[in-house]
Amino acid sequence: MILNADLHIHSCFSRATSRNMVIEAIAPQAKLKGLHIVGTGDAFHPGWRKIIEESTEYAGDGVYVRDECSFIITAEVEDSRRIHHLIILPSLEAAEEMGERMPSTTTSDGRPRVRMNGAQILEMVHEYDGIAGPAHAFTPWTSMYKSYDTYMDCYGKRPDFLELGLSADTEMADKISELADIPFLTNSDAHSPWPHRLGREFNQLEMDDISFTSLKRSIRKCRIRANYGLDPRLGKYHMTACTRCYRIYSPEEALQMKMKCPCGGRIKKGVDYRIYELSTWDEPHHPPHRPPYVHIMPLAEIIGMKYGKGVTTKFVQGIWEGLVGEFGTEIDVLLSAPIEDIGSIDAGVAVAVEAFREGSLTVIPGGGGKYGEIRFPAETLDAYFR
Ligand SMILES: [Zn+2]
Ligand SMILES: [Zn+2]
Repeated sequence: MILNADLHIHSCFSRATSRNMVIEAIAPQAKLKGLHIVGTGDAFHPGWRKIIEESTEYAGDGVYVRDECSFIITAEVEDSRRIHHLIILPSLEAAEEMGERMPSTTTSDGRPRVRMNGAQILEMVHEYDGIAGPAHAFTPWTSMYKSYDTYMDCYGKRPDFLELGLSADTEMADKISELADIPFLTNSDAHSPWPHRLGREFNQLEMDDISFTSLKRSIRKCRIRANYGLDPRLGKYHMTACTRCYRIYSPEEALQMKMKCPCGGRIKKGVDYRIYELSTWDEPHHPPHRPPYVHIMPLAEIIGMKYGKGVTTKFVQGIWEGLVGEFGTEIDVLLSAPIEDIGSIDAGVAVAVEAFREGSLTVIPGGGGKYGEIRFPAETLDAYFR
């Protein structure tokens, strides 16, 4: 069976996270998005484990079900060098035991900081039959490649997977020769359950059944059928840019300015520049097992762009609900619903979805912590000279 899985989110117990990040809000939103499997995130937090237990039915082999959404136990930790690791575990019990053994400096945060290095973390995850790898592997503040030039220096062995993060895609990462054997994951890292966050990136996996064992096998045996994710230019760390005024710099310029912006802010190296530094080749060399990477955009953002309204406004949400109600899931509206049928509900959005499918929307790249934006081609120049 082919299943859509978003394996990295955060609960209401993580910092800067929506209070709505609870199972009973996530599950129905996942269904509307078109996700079958969602990682719980934050599994080392006792309060979150309690909520998972109370608001799901256990279906066996690591699967916790609510409203037709299957949750798998996942967590993110920050190691002693401020590197984030994504962990996928076989059960709540495994998460509880492992959580108690990890020397942690923070107990209240959903994403704990632990006094361990990457190798120790991977080792311990394997003791519990879980799998782990670097989260958002190329970002400038908290990723493996901000500290190391190779995964061996971080883990001492091959991690089970690598999460690309919102600011990178397969085209970029397959320029790095050491990643040829490593499965790529694309996850949302959502901090709120609304559909422009949850499932904004996800993996399409071939699995024997819905279980932790099948999920693990699917990832380790490279049975990922597709990665769905944002155009990396929409990611907030794609370009090298100032973290205060968000001005974008070329890498050479940034170095010349000694990474200091005239506004007084700090210039942060972008993911595109970091991947350029790490690249073995100028063009991607995809290994035979590598699945396609399909660029998607949140439907609410496409609607918001079309009408010049915020994604969380009632206006945009109303159109979103009408379309998803008609076609079943957001993924269906974005990728497969006939344009004429979308047009019979909202002609303006039909034009925008068609432009998205044809790849004719323009992207104003993000950087320095600010997300990129999408525009119809004609509007792009205006946006640059705002
Ligand atoms: Zn993280
Ligand atoms: Zn600046």
